[in-house]
Amino acid sequence: MSKKGQGSLVVVSGFSGTGKGTVMKRLLEEKEDYALSVSVTTRPPREGEENGREYFFITEEQFREMIRSDELLEYATYVSHSYGTPAAYVFEKMEQGQNVLLEIDIQGALKVKAKYPEALLVFLIPPSAEELRRRLVSRGTEDWETIVRRLARAAEEADVVSAYDYVLVNDDLDQCVDALDRIVQIQRSRTPRMLDAVARIKDDLRRIIENPQEAE
Ligand code: 5GP
Repeated sequence: MSKKGQGSLVVVSGFSGTGKGTVMKRLLEEKEDYALSVSVTTRPPREGEENGREYFFITEEQFREMIRSDELLEYATYVSHSYGTPAAYVFEKMEQGQNVLLEIDIQGALKVKAKYPEALLVFLIPPSAEELRRRLVSRGTEDWETIVRRLARAAEEADVVSAYDYVLVNDDLDQCVDALDRIVQIQRSRTPRMLDAVARIKDDLRRIIENPQEAE
């Protein structure tokens, strides 16, 4: 583990079209102690998406094989396609002291929280439903049927948001990125994560009490 200690596992979810991708991209550009987990998916790439950057685009068969060999930290189905988080990269980066960002849906987020209760769950919402519709339409990457299914999915997801630790409104990009970073930094000071540091001081105090005049 690095001197900074282990990094945090940060799950960022939000209704489709909320701008999660943009928020994460900005955070990764501005701060060096973050790493992005790249998921695998069976959905076809959108125009402009690159294999290994937005996702690793794989076949259903490859996806099943990854499940069989226990390579996924979690996985879920979202509007007819499968998505999953490769585990190895996440743990490697956390060991190096990086905060690892997972941009995954609610089903995945709940699975991560069940496995790793110390994971931080953040949900991003748009300023309004109309803004969400507008963003999905202006993205121009999905047909109407898919847009409607994604909006319907957003309405369903609204019921489960109470499982998250924080909800951020993505209205002003800079403010949203800043708030997310602050939440992650504060998370590092939560008591369970600091108990090792406290124990080290306690050991040192014992030594000092036994030999109070001897400086290190
Ligand atoms: P999109 O097709 O728009 O890229 O993603 C659709 C949904 O799948 C989004 O809510 C996104 O957060 C979620 N997603 C992406 N990768 C993963 C993953 O590895 N696991 C889970 N559970 N959801 C994911």
